[in-house]
Amino acid sequence: MAQEEKYNVIIIGGGVTGTALLYVLSRYTNISRIAIFEKYNEAAMVNSHYDNNSQTLHFGDIETNYTLEKAKRVKEAADILVRYLKSYAPNAFTKGSKMVLAIGKKETRELEKRYEEFHTLFPKLKKIERDQISKLEPNVVKGRDYRENLLALVTEDGYAVNYKALSESFIRESRVTDKEIDIFFGTEVKEIKRKNEIYAVNTSKSSFSADVVAVMAGPHSLIFAHSLGYGKHFGILPVAGSFYCADNLLNGKVYTMQIKKLPFAAIHGDPDVNNRAETRFGPTAKVLPLFERHNYRTIADFIKTSIWNLSGVFSLIKIIADPTLFRYVFKNLAYDIPIIGKRFFLRSVRKIVPMAKYSSLHYGKGIGGIRPQIVNTKTMKLEMGEAEIVGDKILFNITPSPGASVSLKNAEQDALKIINFLGDLFSFDQQKWCLDTGSTMLECRE
Ligand SMILES: Cc1cc2nc3c(=O)[nH]c(=O)nc-3n(C[C@H](O)[C@H](O)[C@H](O)COP(=O)(O)OP(=O)(O)OC[C@H]3O[C@@H](n4cnc5c(N)ncnc54)[C@H](O)[C@@H]3O)c2cc1C
Repeated sequence: MAQEEKYNVIIIGGGVTGTALLYVLSRYTNISRIAIFEKYNEAAMVNSHYDNNSQTLHFGDIETNYTLEKAKRVKEAADILVRYLKSYAPNAFTKGSKMVLAIGKKETRELEKRYEEFHTLFPKLKKIERDQISKLEPNVVKGRDYRENLLALVTEDGYAVNYKALSESFIRESRVTDKEIDIFFGTEVKEIKRKNEIYAVNTSKSSFSADVVAVMAGPHSLIFAHSLGYGKHFGILPVAGSFYCADNLLNGKVYTMQIKKLPFAAIHGDPDVNNRAETRFGPTAKVLPLFERHNYRTIADFIKTSIWNLSGVFSLIKIIADPTLFRYVFKNLAYDIPIIGKRFFLRSVRKIVPMAKYSSLHYGKGIGGIRPQIVNTKTMKLEMGEAEIVGDKILFNITPSPGASVSLKNAEQDALKIINFLGDLFSFDQQKWCLDTGSTMLECRE
């Protein structure tokens, strides 16, 4: 293994984002020397771990907070990932039905309208009513008031993905090349410094250097960005998500209608990717001053990236004081309280499974992640979706949902930027990428 080495590219973070980039750089470019640093002893131990996210491959078909434009982009990226999963990681996913459920007149009207707008993009999406819903998901209809309007959009593309297994497959596949790929687990990057056009990367074990650095360390990316003078107007609102579990209540994924302002609000229920007999409900959404769930040392990291100036503080107050968000955050705080939290949460579960019992639910102890929602102090707003800061020969990615679903497509985009940073001697094999991924994107149609 190389020590004190110089690489063309150093990637920081061995979650699904960093490992997807490693895979794309190794397979589709002529970059020959790449290293990846991960502070834990295995890949994907934080948000990309199978226990810590919702395990959904998002396409945009049943996510009612996505616009048509966003759904198009997410679908294109998800299609690429499906092809990869089928070819290289067949054990990292399961497939079943997936639906979004509308309850009551207002929601069913909204969903009808959405169907008209979206069914051309998603031809597999079907509109189904009570009887058909009952055939697919008996527990969704059982015990429900028969006068209640019920409508669902359903598709067979209900992929549940073990994003940790996917990350591991990205690493495995990146090594099936003649490139020099060094993988450093248990190695924490402490500092990145710029010296004469070269980046010095100081880790818990040794120092390395690189022409280009890709920081794919979740919310920790922002700490490195700030240290190099980038993204100073960004902060992070960490929104923790927990799950409750029950035995075998649902056959496939059942989502509910999202609240427009809160992309993380409405809960869903679905079978666990590793054990389809276990149904998970969640995620909850609780603001916590942590960068990693259950890792209290990361409070210091949150404090470091908080924006302790007037506009930063005002932005946070303005965002949290929004009545929709405030009500929601307050309600979610209650969900994690022992005994009464489960009672509160049961009400949301019963929206999906009306006959769910208090005794059948248990809190998923030690599972769940942190969605690093970006706060922009210039606009004083939450930025939805992934955030990337592009610096001089350095990239910083902070990836809330659906970051895992779009990881491979994002990696292609980042690989193109890296090639551009490195100059004329380096190239991206667009033809091979288009052929392998079956991508229908503009660059592949030309
Ligand atoms: C509750 C919840 C539900 C979600 N559901 C979905 C879903 O259903 N579908 C979907 O597509 N997305 C979902 N997401 C989002 C998805 O989990 C993330 O977008 C994705 O996992 C991000 O991957 P990542 O590699 O960027 O981050 P991570 O997986 O967090 O990886 C970052 C890595 O960087 C490492 N690291 C950090 N600092 C350092 C350092 N200094 N040195 C070395 N290594 C470092 C960490 O140890 C970690 O392994 C969900 C997220 C949450 C929280």
